[in-house]
Amino acid sequence: DRIARKRDREFSEFRKRLKDADQLKLDDSAFDDATYAAIYKLVQDGHVSAIGRPISTGKEANVYEAAADGGERDVAMKVYRVNASSFRQMRDYLEGDPRFEGLRGDKKAVVLAWTRKEYANLKRAQDAGVPVPDPIAVQRNVLVMELLGEEDDAAPTLHDVHLENPETAYENVREYMRRLFRAGLVHGDLSEYNLLVWEGEIFVIDVGQAVTVHHGNADDFLERDCRNVANFFARQGVDVDADDLYDYVTEP
Ligand code: ADP
Ligand code: MN
Repeated sequence: DRIARKRDREFSEFRKRLKDADQLKLDDSAFDDATYAAIYKLVQDGHVSAIGRPISTGKEANVYEAAADGGERDVAMKVYRVNASSFRQMRDYLEGDPRFEGLRGDKKAVVLAWTRKEYANLKRAQDAGVPVPDPIAVQRNVLVMELLGEEDDAAPTLHDVHLENPETAYENVREYMRRLFRAGLVHGDLSEYNLLVWEGEIFVIDVGQAVTVHHGNADDFLERDCRNVANFFARQGVDVDADDLYDYVTEP
């Protein structure tokens, strides 16, 4: 009908605009039509109004700066590759998660579930009092969240800052790991690279792979997280030990 035709026309114009946008030249040939449609839906729903430069181009996802509310607010848009080469590992992380029981095993289903999982994990972490970017919306393989930092000046990772007080930073991270664990989650890829520093506070990011404590590998993941975090803070001169950290996090 007429409305559907108008929508199709709007969509192809929007897609053309996205494709033509200078900032999007980089890697967007990798965006398939369904990804454009997802972004278009996010625009229609008012979660995104313009897309800016990429903050990060990773193996599984690209993260872009974007504007929302007609430029009033900055957001970060994480676009997962539907053709992510690591989808087999993704599936292993999803298996055993009661929230994703009965998931189809194909690539597309896995990546879409992964994106929803990151959104759900952000929410759960936030509810547990862990500082994370505020999750705003999820559509297919695209996640919209609060931008930490400012336009053209995204927040640095813990790896990239000079810590005035590593002791306090460690105590905070340790507390966030405990809150996460008590909320039934293990991050699974925690290190100085997935902790951002913004306005004097440490934020946990990249929670797509975070598993519930029921997962068969949850304990191994937690041990690895503890080692990564302890090693980083030990290099900053803090008297830490991975086993002590593990005990602190899991203390009933
Ligand atoms: P990856 O799986 O590619 O590591 P991340 O979620 O860690 O994905 O994001 C990659 C990088 O993008 C981060 O290291 C960080 O620099 C930046 N980033 C991600 N989310 C945000 C955000 N909400 N605000 C600001 N920067 C972000
Ligand atoms: Mn990361």
